[in-house]
Amino acid sequence: MRELIDKAKVIALELKQAAEKVVTIKEVDDLRVQFMGREGCLTLLIKELKDLDSLAKREVGPVLNQIRVDATEIFRRLKEDIEKREAEAANMREKGFDVSAYQPKGRPDGTRHIYSKFIEDIEDIFMSMGFSIFDGPEVETDFYNFQALNIPQNHPARDMQDTFWFEKDKKLLRTHTSNVQIHAMQKYGVPIAGVCTGRVYRYEATDATHDCMFTQCEGLLVDKNVSISQLLGTVKKFLQRLFDSKKLKIRVRPGFFPFVEPGLEVDMSCVFCKDGCSVCKKTTWIELMGAGLVHPNVLRAVKVDPEVYSGFAFGVGIERLAMLRYGIDDIRLFHSGRVKFLQQF
Ligand SMILES: [Zn+2]
Repeated sequence: MRELIDKAKVIALELKQAAEKVVTIKEVDDLRVQFMGREGCLTLLIKELKDLDSLAKREVGPVLNQIRVDATEIFRRLKEDIEKREAEAANMREKGFDVSAYQPKGRPDGTRHIYSKFIEDIEDIFMSMGFSIFDGPEVETDFYNFQALNIPQNHPARDMQDTFWFEKDKKLLRTHTSNVQIHAMQKYGVPIAGVCTGRVYRYEATDATHDCMFTQCEGLLVDKNVSISQLLGTVKKFLQRLFDSKKLKIRVRPGFFPFVEPGLEVDMSCVFCKDGCSVCKKTTWIELMGAGLVHPNVLRAVKVDPEVYSGFAFGVGIERLAMLRYGIDDIRLFHSGRVKFLQQF
């Protein structure tokens, strides 16, 4: 009698363990036959009941019955779970995403794109300096991309940024991330400090150093009494950390960007040489980014009083930075999706 109860408990345990491994309906059916079919181990055990005397039957009977009820419930639940999962998978397949797609042998797992990682590095540096991360639309209106940034209709600066226009509704693909300055100031007000990294578009031919789509990182800080020295300190600290060089220096030249006054071109000392190389074209300086103090008209466009507030802004091409940091000479490689190229990182 004892022996029968022990056997029943072993069978119940085996069923529980086997149930954890089944994946398909067929496997559930097979398992059911194995345990509860005509020759199933549980069925055979129950048959042994009839050879017991009535006292033993009264003791063993309920134990075996409970195991049978539990087993039935296990099979019902297994089937239900599998059917639900298969329905979900079928639904996904209909939507064009095949969850049953197998991975061909020998094909390595994917990793994060070097580009995403690089952008995160940049954002980390700025966040550690107290900047927030902003985001904004890539499809933009004339107001946010041009007018609010002190680039009115017929302004010559519009020629510098040949633009992709949508025929419908007069929208455009943003030509710079500066549009986010306007959105951010409207949304959060001033004082404000943030950076935005994102894709921008220019209607131009592509070559090794130009692409019609590239990524820009834009920084903006508006507060009371903001000065050029704060701008230069921020930019220098950022570059020193990005290129991991405390010796890195910057220099500025006058530059023209409609949304800053004065406007500056920022160069950094070449991180590859001391006295001239091919990267710096033998000058020991590398042209890098545009910057300046926020133009009063930009502040006025978002109803901030330029008599009270001032600010600085800078913009830099991420591809350009990445080309320098990783020693890559063709900008198009970043967006080519070439596995051989990406595997180097
Ligand atoms: Zn150099």
